[in-house]
Amino acid sequence: MMAIPSSEEQLSFLDHIQRLFEEGEFVATYKFALLLALTELAVEHGTDSGDTLDLSYAAIADKFLELYWPQVIPYTAGGQVGVLMQNNGRQAATVLLLNDIRSRHGTLPKARASTEWPNALRKTVALLKEMPLWRLQILRRQEVNFLYVPGPSASIRLLPGVMYNLRRFQGLVQQLARSAWINHIRANPNNATVIGEASDLEQALFGTSRANLATARPVLREIQSDTCFYCQGALRNTGEVDHFIPWARYPRDLAHNFVLAHKTCNSDKRDLLAATVHLEKWCDRNERQGTVLANELGSHFVCDSSTMTRVAHWAYHHSFMTASQSWVGRAQVIPLTADYQRILPAQ
Ligand SMILES: [Zn+2]
Repeated sequence: MMAIPSSEEQLSFLDHIQRLFEEGEFVATYKFALLLALTELAVEHGTDSGDTLDLSYAAIADKFLELYWPQVIPYTAGGQVGVLMQNNGRQAATVLLLNDIRSRHGTLPKARASTEWPNALRKTVALLKEMPLWRLQILRRQEVNFLYVPGPSASIRLLPGVMYNLRRFQGLVQQLARSAWINHIRANPNNATVIGEASDLEQALFGTSRANLATARPVLREIQSDTCFYCQGALRNTGEVDHFIPWARYPRDLAHNFVLAHKTCNSDKRDLLAATVHLEKWCDRNERQGTVLANELGSHFVCDSSTMTRVAHWAYHHSFMTASQSWVGRAQVIPLTADYQRILPAQ
């Protein structure tokens, strides 16, 4: 295992990320999506060591398409309806591709399971190789390979320390990439009539749909006997679907991350991690009911319990390292304890 990057190396990484946004050229939103994809893959498949990480083109393309998936839904703001332009010229090819698939399959899991998906992946790999993969690391017209180099057989290799830094600074990188993405869409004159004065663009591009989440309610209600996951109080059919690992940290609708809670419990918890007493219960729930969740929700939401466990480990580990608070119950927080190491299997 390689040593984790020194403080100086971490600063240099952040410096380069900053330069990427200041000095890179962005004709389309592809490079933002690529950076987000690499960060998410490092969280899901990496470890907190200084090691390199090989990411296949196919895995990056799959993630890339998932990031664009919600963005091909027509956006409505000032009376006008339209799919947002993701490119300064013609509409981005990825959007056209997904628009077509989405019209036939409706949900991402169904599209992934369809015979069209391998072809969509192939096209996306070709697009990634032609454009964002090599352009992402061009700063002021000069190639600076600070993130990755070509890897073995159809992959890229994240350089030593990059996986660690992407995991450590995930929140920061995500925020930078998203706001640059939003600005790009806002600045595109072809989007002006659709966007107007709208202020919910971030929600439309990167939020989760409440209506969509509601499809998970009946199953969770049944599993939890209509009680709140956190306080065990009766829900009387008023529960809200909560992301156990908060959406702000891990913005994917994975079925195994859902629990049902009081609206008040859910909004009090906000972006905090739940205390380890809840973590233990969540792990237990997924062990016992994971298959039910996958069977019942698999056609609507991504089901991948092992990824979910790795992500939980990452989230708790990083919160613990920064001495974060954890949420126990309404108006009750305590410092996160090292208990998570016992509860979650070692990585
Ligand atoms: Zn509650």
